[in-house]
Amino acid sequence: MTQSMIHLRNQVVFDRFEPDQLNQRESLLTLSNTYLGLRGVEDEDPAGSLPGLYIAGLFDKSECLVPEIVNFPAFLQMSVEVDGSVLNPAETKIESYERRLDMERAAVHRTIVYCTNAGRRIRVDSIRYVSFADQHCGAIQWVVTPLNFSGTLRIHTAFDASRLSREGSYHYDEAVKHYTLGGFNDQYEENLTCRVILRDTGLPVDLATCLVVSGNHAPLRQRRLRGEVMREQVELPAQEDVPLTVTKYFVVADGRSFAPATLRQEVVARLERMKAAGFDEEWSRSAAQLQHRWQGAGIVIEGDEQADLAVRFNIFQLLGLGHETRSDFSIGAKGLTNERYGGHYFWDTEIYLLPFYLHTAPGVARNLLDFRARTLDRAKTRARAAGFEGCLWPWQSDSVGEEGIRNIVRADGTIHVREILEQYHIVSDVAYACLEHLRYTGDTAFFVTRLSPLIVEALRFWRSFLRACNPPNASQYHLRSIMGPDEYHRHVDDNYYTNFLTKLIFRQFAEFYRNATPKQQFDVRRLNALTDVEIEELTRVGEGIHLPELRANVIEQFAGYFQLLDLTVAATNERGLPVYPAGDVGRGLPQTEQEDALQAHATTTQLIKQADAVLLLVLVPDQFTPEIIRASYDYYSRRTLHFSSLSPGTCALAALRAGRQEEAERLFFLGSRMDLDDIKKETANGLHTACHGATYRAVVEGFAGVRITPGQVSIEPSLPVTWRAVELPLIYRGLQLRLRITAQEVTVTLPARSEVAIRYRGRTTVLRNPTELPDVQRLA
Ligand code: BGC
Repeated sequence: MTQSMIHLRNQVVFDRFEPDQLNQRESLLTLSNTYLGLRGVEDEDPAGSLPGLYIAGLFDKSECLVPEIVNFPAFLQMSVEVDGSVLNPAETKIESYERRLDMERAAVHRTIVYCTNAGRRIRVDSIRYVSFADQHCGAIQWVVTPLNFSGTLRIHTAFDASRLSREGSYHYDEAVKHYTLGGFNDQYEENLTCRVILRDTGLPVDLATCLVVSGNHAPLRQRRLRGEVMREQVELPAQEDVPLTVTKYFVVADGRSFAPATLRQEVVARLERMKAAGFDEEWSRSAAQLQHRWQGAGIVIEGDEQADLAVRFNIFQLLGLGHETRSDFSIGAKGLTNERYGGHYFWDTEIYLLPFYLHTAPGVARNLLDFRARTLDRAKTRARAAGFEGCLWPWQSDSVGEEGIRNIVRADGTIHVREILEQYHIVSDVAYACLEHLRYTGDTAFFVTRLSPLIVEALRFWRSFLRACNPPNASQYHLRSIMGPDEYHRHVDDNYYTNFLTKLIFRQFAEFYRNATPKQQFDVRRLNALTDVEIEELTRVGEGIHLPELRANVIEQFAGYFQLLDLTVAATNERGLPVYPAGDVGRGLPQTEQEDALQAHATTTQLIKQADAVLLLVLVPDQFTPEIIRASYDYYSRRTLHFSSLSPGTCALAALRAGRQEEAERLFFLGSRMDLDDIKKETANGLHTACHGATYRAVVEGFAGVRITPGQVSIEPSLPVTWRAVELPLIYRGLQLRLRITAQEVTVTLPARSEVAIRYRGRTTVLRNPTELPDVQRLA
């Protein structure tokens, strides 16, 4: 826990301004509402801040190597001027300070008392939110109170349309501006409107703000343009101890939501609506909408406040991502908190995030998979370009399905293609997620029409891939020169994770087809130009995929892995992360070079970056015996460096499956606090979204032990002793259930006129609620 962080229910509080934590706090205090992401920059935008306004799905390439998420204009900046000096937390004396994230109402509050050199004390209470009721809207409100003087105050705000993005360029020290300024409106109008235009596509984005001063003031208002920055100031007479309220409303919308011809009108209409309704009413509408989402997703952990808060923080991040009605974008590895990873979409979505949405917001889960369906054609083109059939997903996708990986440009201009692209497992990950969607929702219509092509094209990809790397008459197919989720080992053969998952999707698809109705079979064939002959051939290919023998129940991560230098982790650092066991590697080098040296060394050892074979124990536990789960977990737990934030939460769940409760709790703690405690020392560069998904899984599927198995919800809890109970909502086949799980019993709240089979303590019970009201039933 950082020293100045305090825990309150639903609140993350910082009670000191710490300049060295500036960018880290900005990430932690980001507000996202599934359309907008607004980094939590201090209101005054002190030097060193990294303002970020991101719009889900808006990427641009321009001079970059690859398309990257666009950083749009910054318009929240506010500061107060007293006696000619503009107050700023980095420069002015602060008497008291508190900044807090209110997760219940999706807002950031700050209370600060400044004291100027002349001894004038002034208090500023600020609240900002982005709306969950109308995703284009938000506001910041300042209440300014002179504590020991009366006089004139100036409030300054700025609208900076010169923001740059810093991730997609050739070199890390470059930055690119991805939009052109279409223009500001007339300076004497009350509303400030601005159009910017994305450079590659010409898509217009309209932004509008209005600074409103409450009370009977007729403030002196001025705007001044300098280049692409419009500054605005209001001058106000202020009296000692009399608060002044200044509110800046804002609206952001783009040409995807509204026709360009009406875009401006839509934006201004929203701004006028907010001004008429006022800050409190608009914020309450947003909070009510968010409340609804919390009811469907919030977990309560009784008995462990710290875990409760950490889980809430992780879930809060996921609530702000993933759209209920749109499928033209997905969720980036950093959510909408930063430009790192170019804002791109990884396998993280299907493997780490999808379960949260399947359990709590099936509409979002459907949209996330529909996004892949929308970009299937590009994935097919990519496969063809690489010499294969079927589809090959980009490792990092933008919103149209372009590969976003930033290859390395050497000094002589040649390009080094990153080995990371050998992670062909993404093809099977997406297909697996489609089968999971079917298992959870039972939605065969969506599966047949929208998802079956993703699987069929995956199988076609693998058929051509396997043919390319095996002799023509091979009876067993090996996967050659690939990379598993553990990115330390390149060009490996038969990565068990990839082989196993791929074989599984071949088999599960064949099973689905065999058990489908004639009409469904017909539709699958017609939509995918499949014949019975091809289906049989694909089935045979899947059966031929080689699965290596286990060694004393331990999965070998890839062929030859056991022959590598066997180093094991013996210690953890002060943040709980494993210490690299060959202490002298990279000693004395700067941090990034040391990391490179460690990675290079790790390739020659059995040390791995993140859960790889162990991930299978999480995804498909029923496929392995308890002996394999235990032996494999134990083996890899001593060799996993958790260098990826995806790993601790995943391994916590695997540890539980292996019966390693204490270790599970330790790993869960690490994963759930990855960002709150900045465990990897990189939260400044954005939050770790997949890690939030892994935390959710560890609680729901791990400690609460909830699993959707065919026809029933199975519950096998293993709660930490301090957890008196865990309460969680769950959508199962359209039914909104609420489970309360203790060490002794399970209580299920059933909706009106419903029925559900629950497997608990080895017995399946069908719970029925024939009444018109929700009903609570108990299983002991
Ligand atoms: C991990 C990948 C992950 C990516 C984005 C990397 O560090 O190794 O598995 O997809 O981060 O989160």
